Amino acid sequence: MSINVWLCDLTYTQQVISSEVMPAAVGEIATYCESHLSPSPAIRLFKYPEKLIAALRTAQPQIIGFSNYVWNSQLSYRFAEAIKTKFPRTVVVMGGPNFPLSQEHQELFLRSRPAIDFFVEKEGELAFCNLVRRLMEREFDIDFVKKEKPGNIRAIAADGTFCAGSILKRISDLSEIPSPYLSGKLDEFFDGKLMPIIQTTRGCPFTCTYCIEGNNYYSRKFRKSSETLHDEIDYIGQKMKRVRDAGGRNDLHIADSNFGMYKEDVETSRFIANSQDRYGWPDYIICSTGKNQHERVMDVSKIVRGRIRVSGSVQSTDSNVLENVRRKNVDLDQIFRLAEDANKIGAESHSEVILGLPGDSVERHFKSIADLIDVGFTNIRMYQLILLMGTPMFAQAHEQKSEFGFGTHFRVIPFDYGDYEFDENTRIITAEIEEIVTSLKDLSYDEYFRCRGFDLIVETFYNQGVFQALLKLLKDLDVSRFAWIRKVWESVERSSISSTIEAFIAEAKGELWESYDDLRRFTSKSENIAKFLSGELGGKLIFKYKSILTNEYLTELADIARDTVIKVIDKDGKLNDQIVALVEDILTYEVLRKVNLFKGDYKPKPFTLTYDVEQFLKSDMKKVPIFELKFSEPKKCRFFLEKEQIDDIERALNSYGRDLAAMTKIISFIRVENFYRQFDFQD
Ligand code: SF4
Repeated sequence: MSINVWLCDLTYTQQVISSEVMPAAVGEIATYCESHLSPSPAIRLFKYPEKLIAALRTAQPQIIGFSNYVWNSQLSYRFAEAIKTKFPRTVVVMGGPNFPLSQEHQELFLRSRPAIDFFVEKEGELAFCNLVRRLMEREFDIDFVKKEKPGNIRAIAADGTFCAGSILKRISDLSEIPSPYLSGKLDEFFDGKLMPIIQTTRGCPFTCTYCIEGNNYYSRKFRKSSETLHDEIDYIGQKMKRVRDAGGRNDLHIADSNFGMYKEDVETSRFIANSQDRYGWPDYIICSTGKNQHERVMDVSKIVRGRIRVSGSVQSTDSNVLENVRRKNVDLDQIFRLAEDANKIGAESHSEVILGLPGDSVERHFKSIADLIDVGFTNIRMYQLILLMGTPMFAQAHEQKSEFGFGTHFRVIPFDYGDYEFDENTRIITAEIEEIVTSLKDLSYDEYFRCRGFDLIVETFYNQGVFQALLKLLKDLDVSRFAWIRKVWESVERSSISSTIEAFIAEAKGELWESYDDLRRFTSKSENIAKFLSGELGGKLIFKYKSILTNEYLTELADIARDTVIKVIDKDGKLNDQIVALVEDILTYEVLRKVNLFKGDYKPKPFTLTYDVEQFLKSDMKKVPIFELKFSEPKKCRFFLEKEQIDDIERALNSYGRDLAAMTKIISFIRVENFYRQFDFQD
């Protein structure tokens, strides 16, 4: 007789949908089990806690599995606990990367979570399938199966012994896993709110110690067949066309670690381009592009019409820091060339820096950002170092005496909090907590916050082309763009936005807790979760404050930009009256393209320009001197939004909402540059 299995990849939903990808990973576990077990189990998938709660009112699963990521670990466990209380005979399984590497710590993890019957370590399909098979064969004698120690399974037996099976080989032939899209398993998740996610290649050849995939277990790469990818992309494209036509989202997440680095990725990108032609999907692709083979990455970007975020993530440009995290075989020169090539064709390029990697300091952090700005990356994302359970670095910081002097704090993960009524007796009130590095041997706690303040300035003044034309002026004049950003940073203390910067630092400090247990207690109270949900606490702070600054203080930002850019150009001896006048027009142009985009202000904005800023953006001032850019007399122009842009803005607002938390997500996940106003002349 077929058994009843539920698999959950839960996300928080009450402020925004915090993990907005379709549950494709548990979908693959489901299709693998359904195709390899006889009789085939009936497997249901869940993403939203509300739907799981509703289903549990009328049905009881025999086995329920939960994904366990840093962003849903507590939510999953609290549901597991509630289900175990309500249905003690249901077998609770958990699996995913948020799990310690050493068996000693795995045992502690499980002893503190008694509602979990089995934990699946590493890759899940084969291990979960074997586990279900053994449970069926042993008529659900849980303890017997624990004592058998199935591969990849960790458990605490009834007599208290810790049971650990050997680690299974990864599945090398991914065609053994039927596509959860093509099987229709994910159809119900095309709801306009969730984003489809595909993975073309599993594994990563690099060995970064702060990353789950840095573990040798994941070093070999295995690919999905070209036929499956073709069919999956086509299937998703058809579905997403309907979603888009109904006002839903229109993007794609590729979960590869290095998309574009392998020759087969070129073919995959052609499938995507074909879908763009046939279905108008995807108009934006989120992924991590390859760290090497930059030319191929650029080819892939061109094939998908630049709708991919090309990333050359360095994390640090300091060779000692990179060595400390074993990120040695990533070729920095190739990454830098990627930015240069992207510039040549006018494409965007993204890089990432992580503050607080072992060996980091204020100088090294600033130098990394300076290097990326100077080489021309158009967007630089600045992250803090999270100690993820299951990474070598977590073990290094917690399980060994470290030479790097890790100082850490705990904080609530943005958007990951909720208060759910499970049944009349039980509420699930919880939040996810992450541990971040806040000091090191060469980076004091105060210096760490100097860097955070600087990162906010880079995010606000440099990223997403907010002052793109001004940055081009500096490039044309051979004036350091980093020198300008640094000048902005030095001047904000005495500026009109100083209180906003101070509020950012205060909130960034205020969200840190020294004790995990204290923060856990704080987040188990309904009144405190309400503060997170209302936006009084939490959020992705760098984007929250960027959103405040760019939505509410754009004119003030332009004033600061004007004062500081004039100073750095003057310092280089290149200032004259014409440059001052051009800067004035550039700033008007920058502000009118972006002001009030998310406030329903869709009316065209007329203005009169002295210089041809559009021509300036297209040409090089070394070839087209400034006097040629000046109109014979001031020209009337207007800044306006195309209908399609208004539709896209409204679609984003409908998907995310209109409050500060929603703005924070829009700024962090959507290519807002597509929303900037167009420009034309009036006569
Ligand atoms: S390159 Fe990226 S995915 Fe690979 S180990 Fe490093 S951080 Fe992880």
